[in-house]
Amino acid sequence: MKIAILSRDAKLYSTRRLMEAARANDHEVQVLDPLRCYMNITSAKPTIHYKGKELTGFDAVIPRIGASITFYGTAVLRQFEMMGVFPVNESVAISRARDKLRSLQLLSRKGVGLPVTGFAHSPDDIDDLLAEVQGAPLVVKLLEGTQGVGVVLAETRKAAESVIQAFMGLRQNILVQEFVKEAGGTDLRCFVIGGKVVAAMQRRAKEGEFRSNLHRGGSAEPVKLTPQERATAVKAAKVIGLNVCGVDILRSSHGPVVIEVNASPGLEGIETASGVDVAGRIVSFIEQNARPHRTQTRGKG
Ligand code: ADP
Repeated sequence: MKIAILSRDAKLYSTRRLMEAARANDHEVQVLDPLRCYMNITSAKPTIHYKGKELTGFDAVIPRIGASITFYGTAVLRQFEMMGVFPVNESVAISRARDKLRSLQLLSRKGVGLPVTGFAHSPDDIDDLLAEVQGAPLVVKLLEGTQGVGVVLAETRKAAESVIQAFMGLRQNILVQEFVKEAGGTDLRCFVIGGKVVAAMQRRAKEGEFRSNLHRGGSAEPVKLTPQERATAVKAAKVIGLNVCGVDILRSSHGPVVIEVNASPGLEGIETASGVDVAGRIVSFIEQNARPHRTQTRGKG
């Protein structure tokens, strides 16, 4: 097969591993910087051009689109979908995952376990919102944040009010969430491919920190998931519509709760912690599923 990887940097661990896995299985693979793809969107025959050449003959595309380029990146992916190229994750599902509020609303609608979460726009409503999420301690999150940046623990009601006012003053969208203390600074990253959890790790925050992101100095170890945790991760992936994703779960006193579904999960941490060849599993998923025009939406929606 001929596989495209949409990635800004061929040297990134995840991109390199996907290239290696594709080549090891005799596929032709090309890394394309999504920001260098340009498109004719008017013609009945959609095309993509790259560095002066038209892209043709691709069977599948693996999107590795960073949060900062979601808008243009998903437009490029949509064009591949219109050309009938099989996307590992569809553009519509990636856009859904990138909107934290929308994702949580979708997950809640389908009964996936979530931390108690609130959202408001006006500072006048803060009091009521804090009461709604059962008061401090609580976590305030910037909707646009990634890698733990913009996730703040407010231990008291006063602190919560100040943080919320400050974010609102900066015209940032935020959500306010029950602090799942019993998770003890750990979370579970469940790597889902094609409706199955293929690998999992437990991330632990460094001393004195509650955010377990590896970028925030957290460490990772292999973990055995309960059947309920597995089922939660698989359901979350299905609700968002992602074939390949990382579902982040906290072990709360009211069962597993999903905090995020990541559409471009990194491979380094999970492959190292679990010892699973995740890149190889993604390539097998493509081999089993890639057919021309086999998408749910073909870029619509
Ligand atoms: P980001 O998308 O920036 O990584 P997350 O929502 O995943 O933001 O939060 C970052 C980290 O903070 C999580 O990995 C988790 O360890 C911790 N965390 C997030 N939400 C909560 C919460 N409601 N209760 C306890 N810890 C949380």
